[in-house]
Amino acid sequence: MPTPRFAPLFETETDLKSHQLDGLKWTVAHAYNGSPVYREKLGAAGVSPNDIQTLDDIRKLPFTTADDLRSGYPFPLRCVPFKDVIRIHSSSGTTGTRKNLCYTQKDVDDWVHFFARAYEMAGVGPEDRVQIAVGYGVWTAGMGFQLGCEKVGALALPVGPGNVDMQCQFLVDLEATVLCCTASMGLLMAEEVKRRGIKDKVRLKKIIYGSERSSVSMRRKISDLLGGAELFDIPGLTELYGPGTGIECPDHDCIHYWSDYYILEILDPDTLEPLPDGEWGEMAVTTLCKEAVPLIRYRTRDITRILPGSCTCGTVLPRHSRIKGRTDDMFKFRAVNIYPSTIDAILSGFPEMGSEYQIHLSRDASERGVMRIVAELGEGVGTDIADDLSKTLIQRIKKKVLVTPSAVELVPYGSLPRSERKSQRVFDTRIQDSIV
Ligand code: ZN
Repeated sequence: MPTPRFAPLFETETDLKSHQLDGLKWTVAHAYNGSPVYREKLGAAGVSPNDIQTLDDIRKLPFTTADDLRSGYPFPLRCVPFKDVIRIHSSSGTTGTRKNLCYTQKDVDDWVHFFARAYEMAGVGPEDRVQIAVGYGVWTAGMGFQLGCEKVGALALPVGPGNVDMQCQFLVDLEATVLCCTASMGLLMAEEVKRRGIKDKVRLKKIIYGSERSSVSMRRKISDLLGGAELFDIPGLTELYGPGTGIECPDHDCIHYWSDYYILEILDPDTLEPLPDGEWGEMAVTTLCKEAVPLIRYRTRDITRILPGSCTCGTVLPRHSRIKGRTDDMFKFRAVNIYPSTIDAILSGFPEMGSEYQIHLSRDASERGVMRIVAELGEGVGTDIADDLSKTLIQRIKKKVLVTPSAVELVPYGSLPRSERKSQRVFDTRIQDSIV
């Protein structure tokens, strides 16, 4: 096997620890000196950069949350002068205030380097043609997949999301060997290939998919429909550079993550104490060399676990399980992060509406995601207006949240159950089997 071009920046566990300690010390000092917000947070926790002497000292550090990023709008937690910032990316969050993240040239270079590593680990190289069917623009997805692809010397086909006719045409005419997309888009494409009878003309060998959870059965279906194509789950989040912060290895035993770029802790979501390897909890990340917006114990709200021991594939890079869920009520639908409170705010904007609602997420017969919203009309409001109002609500949600619900069912006041405790709003039956 040839030496990887984008190999980890360490060879042994001892090397890694010393690399991480250097990175942690640098990050804390850089954040302290570069950002008044970080300096205040560290000060409030009684920590100064000199207090970081071992890796265990990470526990002394305060957590950073999405609120820290939102409250610092438009340039939250910026630690370098604007002359050093070369790019902005934003997250697709729908809670009102967008999360903007600054990048220096080194941040972009580091991201591209480890994204190339992800491609390389999936066996993608100069002979490959990579059809990139993710969102381009201010989001991190398109740019990340694109630059990483060019870095490994593969041929990039930047089609973007949707546009199934063009996707199919490119698959056949340009003979793409790799498709990058969400799991739902992967399934949609696999079904289209079958429906159009073009399976024998398609050369796809690999599907690199991210941004949403997928079940074992869904993965199997995509692979079967595409003649045994190999699937690679790729995680990532905008706050932590973007997608490509790790990847499923060719042995398909969970996800290798880039421990030379960030420290991953698994926390008990209630006590916020670190959990031992193997236990499920909330993932928190601390970057080791991120300049413009370093992260210190950033609570991702994603639930996963660190897998103890080494992988059969032989890499020294550690592993975490695929993302199992969230510790808050955010859900992902068609690659968009949605909070129930956003739906609530839209419904509440209509005087005819009541206060109770439910969001039902399921899969249709062809396993495509379906979002159905059931909402109560206000007290004394007749159901005769329901049809028209429902159409208006669908349009409003589409405009605000960027995805279209399959249905908004309006029911008479008092139809939905009340709870003294927090009502369950989201009913998600999209994944029925194991995801790990
Ligand atoms: Zn492996």
